[in-house]
Amino acid sequence: MTQTNIPLKRRNEIKEAVYYTLQNYKHSNIPVKIKAIARSFTNIRLVSYSKHMKKNNLSYDCMIKFTGTKDACTDYYAKANFFIIYYNDIDRNITTSNRYRWNIAHELGHIMLGHHITHEKTRIFRNELSNSEYDELEEEADYFASLILVPHAALLGFQIRNANYIKVMCKISEPAAKRRYYEFLEWKSHVSAQDEYDKRIFHLYYNFIYKRKCKNCGAGLIQRYGKYCPICGNKNTLEWGDGDNMKYPLLDTYENGKLKECPVCHNEDTNIDGNYCQICGSYIINKCPNQNCDNYDVLPSNARYCPICGESSTFYNANILKVWDYKEYKNNSDGFMNIPDGIDEELPFH
Ligand SMILES: [Zn+2]
Ligand SMILES: [Zn+2]
Ligand SMILES: [Zn+2]
Ligand SMILES: [Zn+2]
Repeated sequence: MTQTNIPLKRRNEIKEAVYYTLQNYKHSNIPVKIKAIARSFTNIRLVSYSKHMKKNNLSYDCMIKFTGTKDACTDYYAKANFFIIYYNDIDRNITTSNRYRWNIAHELGHIMLGHHITHEKTRIFRNELSNSEYDELEEEADYFASLILVPHAALLGFQIRNANYIKVMCKISEPAAKRRYYEFLEWKSHVSAQDEYDKRIFHLYYNFIYKRKCKNCGAGLIQRYGKYCPICGNKNTLEWGDGDNMKYPLLDTYENGKLKECPVCHNEDTNIDGNYCQICGSYIINKCPNQNCDNYDVLPSNARYCPICGESSTFYNANILKVWDYKEYKNNSDGFMNIPDGIDEELPFH
């Protein structure tokens, strides 16, 4: 399947359909949540073989007879424009190898590419189409499945050393991973920053690719450039993964990074030109103050340090942000108490 017979124009249409499908489900993760993606369309229902057998009191053999396949099939109800995907969740060869994921993606491909509608079929079956027609539709659905389950532009953000990385990361079968790994290498050898589809996939997965957690302070952040943790200022302590996003909350800012409220005079009228508070003159945009650093971007509002050079940020220097391991209220002499735990008993008041 490395060499596809699908013409370029059609391949681009299929890519368009893949992007549309991925986008319909709001969260972009790998392994791609193929079931959730299918379910994100209100006119598609996913039904496992076991569920259908139980509901209709069918044996496994009867179920195979009904669907005509050990993998998966789709019924199209033209009047209601409704699709039901039946997928095998019983055969252990199919479930443990993750082949069922490919099967669902393949069926979703038939649906999203409009195969049932353009060919006026309730099912895409070999004996209802000419051989060449059937092969063409199958190849298209497989192409769709390979693109949606193994998004190359997203994988580029990871060290993919062999086919096994793709197998584990994308949760696909070994044969599929081997094929897709060679396609990935081929693609990587002439990857273009101008490719529209690759660019869109990259941005869809941006937050997934660049999510980092700091081994030192536990912060969770999205960071593309820089080796410094913007919260605790340590170098090389960031690794890919989910940190604690709530631990070091962002301050309320406008899109340009300007604080919605001046922390010094509490002026809330800050949505004006310039980087200063118009009342007290405080600098209310978080930046790297290092003249020799080429990071001119606005820093995230919770950044104590510049991720590029490690210098402390303007917010940190101005005491708008506390040192990352500052224990709030620790030495508070005003007798401040944390809010005590609630009680379970019903209160007597009416
Ligand atoms: Zn098919
Ligand atoms: Zn840190
Ligand atoms: Zn102010
Ligand atoms: Zn800097």
